[in-house]
Amino acid sequence: MSTLRPCSRQTCRRPAVATLTYVYADSMAVLGPLSGAPEPHSYDLCEVHADRLSAPQGWSVLRISAPADEAPLFGA
Ligand SMILES: [Zn+2]
Repeated sequence: MSTLRPCSRQTCRRPAVATLTYVYADSMAVLGPLSGAPEPHSYDLCEVHADRLSAPQGWSVLRISAPADEAPLFGA
């Protein structure tokens, strides 16, 4: 089992479900599934904060979907 990490927003106590990584070379914020290990330039976000994410001026946001086996309404 993976270790639960909290959302990186200070006032937030929800568990993180996504990892935000800033790619400075491309001015891109990449939001993907929670990474296995914390990384220096990444931030863990809960689903609320991941959903509300907005990129800084001049930056773009790339959202990467969670793996299929974590999608709750997928299958049948
Ligand atoms: Zn949060």
